[in-house]
Amino acid sequence: MVQRTPGVVLRCADVADIRAAVRAASAAGALTAVRCGGHSLAGFGTCHDGVVIDLSRLRGVAVDEPRRSARAQGGCLLGTIDDATQCFGLVFPSGVVSHTGASGLILGGGTGWLTRLLGLSCDNVEGFTLISADGSLVRARVDENPDLFWALRGGGGNFGIVTEFELKLHALKSVLLCTAWRFGDDIYRVLRFWRDFMPQAPDELKWNISLRVAPRSPDIPSQLFGQPCSSESIVWAGDETVGGRYLKQILGFGDPLAIKKGVVPFLRLQTMADTEFPHGSRYYTKSGYFSSLQDESIGRMIKSFDSSPSSENQLELAFFGGAAGKISETETAFGDRSTPFIMNLLGHWTDPFADAANVAWVRTLFTSLRPEMKSGVYVNFMSGDEQNRVPEAYGRRWQRLLRVKRAYDPQNFFHLNQNIAATNPAPATVGF
Ligand SMILES: Cc1cc2nc3c(=O)[nH]c(=O)nc-3n(C[C@H](O)[C@H](O)[C@H](O)COP(=O)(O)OP(=O)(O)OC[C@H]3O[C@@H](n4cnc5c(N)ncnc54)[C@H](O)[C@@H]3O)c2cc1C
Repeated sequence: MVQRTPGVVLRCADVADIRAAVRAASAAGALTAVRCGGHSLAGFGTCHDGVVIDLSRLRGVAVDEPRRSARAQGGCLLGTIDDATQCFGLVFPSGVVSHTGASGLILGGGTGWLTRLLGLSCDNVEGFTLISADGSLVRARVDENPDLFWALRGGGGNFGIVTEFELKLHALKSVLLCTAWRFGDDIYRVLRFWRDFMPQAPDELKWNISLRVAPRSPDIPSQLFGQPCSSESIVWAGDETVGGRYLKQILGFGDPLAIKKGVVPFLRLQTMADTEFPHGSRYYTKSGYFSSLQDESIGRMIKSFDSSPSSENQLELAFFGGAAGKISETETAFGDRSTPFIMNLLGHWTDPFADAANVAWVRTLFTSLRPEMKSGVYVNFMSGDEQNRVPEAYGRRWQRLLRVKRAYDPQNFFHLNQNIAATNPAPATVGF
């Protein structure tokens, strides 16, 4: 979906290289992209004819076990951090696909299996070191450049190139994991049950539901292949006996099929979706929040899969809240923490000739649901054609973000991102 040919790719080996790269690109007035894992759905990790500052050689992680912290370099993938921290039975809460870049994910917020228990990824960063647009090395912590520290936790790659993150770690080696499928009327019923169940659920429970059409799988009866279905992943990160009771309650509702459950090592959890989202596939997303999920919206979501042009398209639903929802909304630049239901419409296909049909399917479904949605969007789930939604993503944080941007990148050198720029219109609704 994103095919661009940079003029030069600078594969930096250390901080001095990054600094030299920023100074040279800035002096030449070159269009400049910064690439960590290259997973930006909007294609911001590359550019046409310009400079790509590639951080993939900078994947060092140093764990301080007694302090339960780690220093991770700016080119790390999620899997790099997981591998290093699990050696000590420690975790950093991040995303669900291990080949995603840690920098892009953390700077935009970072949601994953442990968000309800431990907060967003950006909530678990204690310090940043970055190279700003003029080539200076700057540190940001709670007591050093606090405005920048605030902005970097959710504000994306707008303020400079992060060379090192100081991460807060937590003890965890395994979780209780359950997956199941549902078909027919059971999909509608379970979504309503989930909607009413999650607001009271403990923070240890993460229950995500994806709507899709059934793939060919040895777990699913062959006559159900191609039928609309829901795929559930339930993760319990806490006492297994208590978790078992919650699982029983969830699985006792309706008629789940192909149930698989058991205790899995944390690294298995973190890599189980890796092959589901392979490199080289074509993706297009639209995302947003719901304060409440109306029966009618649920019905429309399910119905849309009767006409999905790709068997891989999904509508992912997650319930936020938990630790991430308890952090004050002024503490970080991350968008809305208060709205519980997050929807990510993920178009996923392989045939380039099917681009138009799949993009249209995502857009049509999004447009039909939009009136029931709340203002706001998570920047890391946005596509490249949604620049006008960036102020919406930040709501009442927008003006403060603009001030920090002006202080650290007045020329908007770092603009290949969900861009915080004065040229963007002020959010239609300031606040929520
Ligand atoms: C398969 C897949 C799974 C995903 N799963 C999740 C998930 O579970 N949870 C979630 O929250 N998100 C998820 N995402 C979205 C993901 O958070 C974003 O795509 C994120 O931008 C990826 O970061 P990256 O470093 O790989 O991307 P890149 O394309 O390398 O960069 C993305 C942006 O970050 C900037 N950037 C990169 N490195 C730095 C740096 N060191 N300093 C400053 N700016 C930098 C870039 O300039 C660019 O604007 C997923 C995406 C994909 C494709």
